[in-house]
Amino acid sequence: MKSKRETNARSRLVLTLGLAVVLPALTLIFITFQHIKSIQRDRKVEALIHRDFQYLLTNSAKKINAKAYELTEQARNDFPSDTDSDDEKRRKLDLIAQKSPWFTHVFLFDAQNGIIIQPHRDSMSEKEVGESAKMYNGWFSLEGPYLCEQMRKKTKPIIWYGGETDRANGTVYITTAIFTFPDLYRDRTVLGGVSFNPTYLKQTFFPQMLEELTSQDFSGDADQASAQGFYELAPREVIEHPDQKLALMVYPADAFKAEPDRPLAMSPGWGSGKPEISYKLDDPFRGLALGIKFQGTTAEAISRRWVLQSFLILGVLSVLMIGGLVLTYRSVNKQVALARLKSDFVSNVSHELRTPLALIRLYAETLELGRITTHEKKNEYYSIIRKESERLTALINNILDFSRIEAGRKEYDFRETDIAELVRNTLDSYRFQIEQQGFALEEHIDPGIPRVKVDREAIARALVNLVNNALKYSDNEKFLGVRLYREQSVLKLEVSDRGIGIERHEQARIFEKFYRTCDPLVHNTKGSGLGLSLVRHITQAHGGDVQVESTPGRGSKFTLSLPLTQQVESL
Ligand code: ADP
Repeated sequence: MKSKRETNARSRLVLTLGLAVVLPALTLIFITFQHIKSIQRDRKVEALIHRDFQYLLTNSAKKINAKAYELTEQARNDFPSDTDSDDEKRRKLDLIAQKSPWFTHVFLFDAQNGIIIQPHRDSMSEKEVGESAKMYNGWFSLEGPYLCEQMRKKTKPIIWYGGETDRANGTVYITTAIFTFPDLYRDRTVLGGVSFNPTYLKQTFFPQMLEELTSQDFSGDADQASAQGFYELAPREVIEHPDQKLALMVYPADAFKAEPDRPLAMSPGWGSGKPEISYKLDDPFRGLALGIKFQGTTAEAISRRWVLQSFLILGVLSVLMIGGLVLTYRSVNKQVALARLKSDFVSNVSHELRTPLALIRLYAETLELGRITTHEKKNEYYSIIRKESERLTALINNILDFSRIEAGRKEYDFRETDIAELVRNTLDSYRFQIEQQGFALEEHIDPGIPRVKVDREAIARALVNLVNNALKYSDNEKFLGVRLYREQSVLKLEVSDRGIGIERHEQARIFEKFYRTCDPLVHNTKGSGLGLSLVRHITQAHGGDVQVESTPGRGSKFTLSLPLTQQVESL
């Protein structure tokens, strides 16, 4: 029966666990769940990756532009000055053209002297040079002064003309820089220029730039971006996708459909597919666009994986938490039950001590008064006194042993023993009591049992405990069977009865300290709940174990197994 106090303690525990742990934990799980759901619903992860991409594209465009400016300015610095003769000018322009494979030609227009065009090697036919010269002459004669005026207002005196042109071998992208020389030719209409080679751009310039850009560490850029407050709302792990390699592509901006069909250049690992984000380039590469995507995956897939992972982690954490709660609840419950068992034990033991003492006193006093005359009556009283004192000794021995075991001070004294004789002697000293209680004793000891190293007193105590239990927990059929036999290398000591038996679910628990079953007969029988826990401790100390087979209402059989080649240890 569970006491009211125990029920109260349990409800208090449930209430405390509920209010202090379960409620906050469930709230936390619920909020986190909602948060992840909102991230999933609003596609926040993708949005963050796209912002990240946008930033990287802006940066990459800047680097590409800077390179084109650098090449152009290098050439511009080498341009001839006003003091140079025509031949010198030609020579200097030719020098620039020859060392710059990235240009088809360089030119110098002077309103007074006309145009000089120097192609890079044979990148232009004579006819083309002639046509270009005519075109530039016509154009700059008309618009030259206006262009010079325009450039004077700019920090970098360069104007770009970029776009696609149809050529015999298909459409190509050309960009041309036109610049002035404010320091060299003041107040005169003098224009220089370089025209980028479309094949060089397509085959060398862009592929190299894209490879360089994709192989660099973008995380630095991302750090800078977040430092600028770019990602105020973004959790770091979402922006950082270090395992994911990026790929870049350059293509004509107006060719952008779902999938650009005329890429100008792409970085290694682009594979196929459309850019996730694109960015229209300005001067010097007006008309082109830069696209970015992950190699082999998409922002959507990464987002899906992130959400899935988050849900999984949340799930695992929830399971762990629930597991922890269940364990805590069970362990506290166990402590409450143990406390109950201990208090039952105290009341049982005091009762057990008082009863035999009262009996001993009563019979001793009666004898002392000399009122008992018959010899048989006297003998009967003496035997009751002896029996009760034996019960007291057994109980006190059990308690002492138990307290030694609990304190870790129990020591065993293993000696070569004739165990058959030990069992016989122990039973002999109980035979009278057994028979007096009306029990039929069936004793079977196999011949030829070898001598073994055991603690005599401990084994005898284990046997006495089992025999006592058989006597205590039998009601209708009073039978006690004791068998000692050898089974290969194991010595077996069996104690069986045909008593009340033990329910299956209680069979493992009866070996726990203080545990007593719920049977009404057990309740009405004195006991401390220590006997079987001692029996188990003793057999285990001998390297063996104890088993029970029992059917409620039919009886029980306890078997001690002691290995003959036992590894004895003193516990
Ligand atoms: P105690 O007998 O002092 O209660 P034990 O540790 O010897 O303590 O036994 C624990 C419980 O196991 C007993 O209370 C009883 O419920 C059950 N038990 C032990 N032996 C038997 C048996 N032979 N038949 C039925 N029940 C038994």
